[in-house]
Amino acid sequence: EAHKETLEFKAEVSQVLDLVIRSLYSNKEIFLRELVSNASDAAERLRFEALSDDGLYEGDSQLRVRILIDRDAKTLTVSDNGIGMSRQEVMDTIGSIASSGTRRFLASLSGDQTKDGQLIGQFGVGFYSAFIVADRVTLISRRAGYGPEHGVRWESDGRGTYTIETVEKVVRGTDVILHLKDDEQEFLEQWRLRSIIQKFSDHIAIPIEMPKEYYGEEAEKRKGQPPEFEQVNRGTALWMRNKSEIREEEYHEFYKHIAHDFEPPLAYVHNRVEGTNEYTALLYIPRRAPWDLWDREPKHGVKLYVRRVFIMDESDQLMPRYLRFIKGIVDADDLPLNVSREILQHNRKIDAIRQANTKRILGLLETLAKDEPERYALFWDEFGKVLKEGPAEDYANRERIAGLLRFATTHSEDNKQRVSLDDYIGRMQEGQDKIYYITAETPAAARHSPHLEIFRKKGIEVLLLSDRVDEWLLSHLHEYKGKHLQSVAKGELDLGGLADQEDKETKDKAATEHRPLLDRLKTALGERVEAVRPSQRLVESPACLVVGADDMSIHLARVLKAVGQ
Ligand code: ADP
Ligand code: MG
Repeated sequence: EAHKETLEFKAEVSQVLDLVIRSLYSNKEIFLRELVSNASDAAERLRFEALSDDGLYEGDSQLRVRILIDRDAKTLTVSDNGIGMSRQEVMDTIGSIASSGTRRFLASLSGDQTKDGQLIGQFGVGFYSAFIVADRVTLISRRAGYGPEHGVRWESDGRGTYTIETVEKVVRGTDVILHLKDDEQEFLEQWRLRSIIQKFSDHIAIPIEMPKEYYGEEAEKRKGQPPEFEQVNRGTALWMRNKSEIREEEYHEFYKHIAHDFEPPLAYVHNRVEGTNEYTALLYIPRRAPWDLWDREPKHGVKLYVRRVFIMDESDQLMPRYLRFIKGIVDADDLPLNVSREILQHNRKIDAIRQANTKRILGLLETLAKDEPERYALFWDEFGKVLKEGPAEDYANRERIAGLLRFATTHSEDNKQRVSLDDYIGRMQEGQDKIYYITAETPAAARHSPHLEIFRKKGIEVLLLSDRVDEWLLSHLHEYKGKHLQSVAKGELDLGGLADQEDKETKDKAATEHRPLLDRLKTALGERVEAVRPSQRLVESPACLVVGADDMSIHLARVLKAVGQ
């Protein structure tokens, strides 16, 4: 049943394809990086599955990628002997572009080509970069462990339809054949391909091989013989190499490979740990938040390797949830190769690695904040809301995390979150012993709250909090460096050493002089309020609402109501 079908791409594929081609064209040689990256992933998956079933190797465990050129046919082929794909897998992955992601991707497009181009990498469209240089792409694959008759051949011109048929394929794995466009013939040149591989894919841990080239007499002699291959990449796991020998660009390219990102990272740390628990960690902070940051189970976190063998993508165990945006690898020497998710959950070595990773990232962020505040601001705008989950989740590191938080305050002109708690403390007034804040639904609502009037009058800075996570943060962060965090909208206003005698006297006088008015207001409002009191909070506004010191804030009450609590 080699039945051949012509199928339409799922909904928006052609639209995405157009965008891929347009936005990546200026950097078109990256198609090779993407195909090699997929081949390497396929090899790692085979190596992992073969741990429990080495029959999958079919007698050949030398995993490699080969790049072949056919000048007459004008094709370039990237061939791997990795895990391969079944017919269904080809339809699911290649025919639909990570289907669930596609729609969200399209929804997140801004119309700005540069920005949209940067988004592309996060949506698993790497394979489609082949269409930047090819007007037709043929993929022939067979899954490891399936018989040779279960090969599958997929072909498309990238314009809305593809064909798929069952074919025979003797060698397991995947061949991707690019029928190069007329003006992309440069990719038939060996030297060009070699330099691309060295630039983008040198860190790939399996060999990338190309046919040896012969010239003159030697070439004549070898005509008609099968090609001999030679390795063109270094072929060692990047993270095992000496830090001092790894160039910045190599770190960046490795990041793009493991994170499936098209942009370089913001920062990284690379450590080798010796002793009773030996491992290597290479961790990256991405430049941009992924589209699935708020998903329950975001993809591609920190990958776990055991002695160079890929085991799993396992962000929860190697990183706390509030650092789930970190990408990278941990390669552990002392874990069994057949380690499962269940074992990881109760493994002391893994716990120790997670704790150390957490400290590394907090340290990296502290350095960034101190030495490169502009870059730290980029980080904060992308990931600040996630970091704010930290004090609740990671009690032990609460104070360090708090030091990394940034806020908009009454001191800042715009609503950008740039003020640290240390900045705030540095500007505290004589006699001030608390860090004051206000929570509201929007930055504007916070900034214009009548609760701030007295603070403005006295020149006291107040943190303006309006992210959804802020209430959660504040219910777990009560103080920083011995200074209590105090809402300006809760309970009796306690200005501590800041209150002057005059304020108190005015207030006391109001309480007696205006007793009848206060009583009438209380009667009119009845059950809706607990009390009506004179306040020193206000300068211009006639009245404001205050909740009890131990009550939920008005803002939190609204949030909970909105989510149906
Ligand atoms: P990503 O690599 O980010 O998942 P790609 O567009 O590069 O996105 O690839 C899409 C999917 O197609 C991969 O996740 C994989 O399942 C499958 N795939 C692509 N190339 C290969 C290959 N050489 N071998 C096996 N599977 C592959
Ligand atoms: Mg890919």
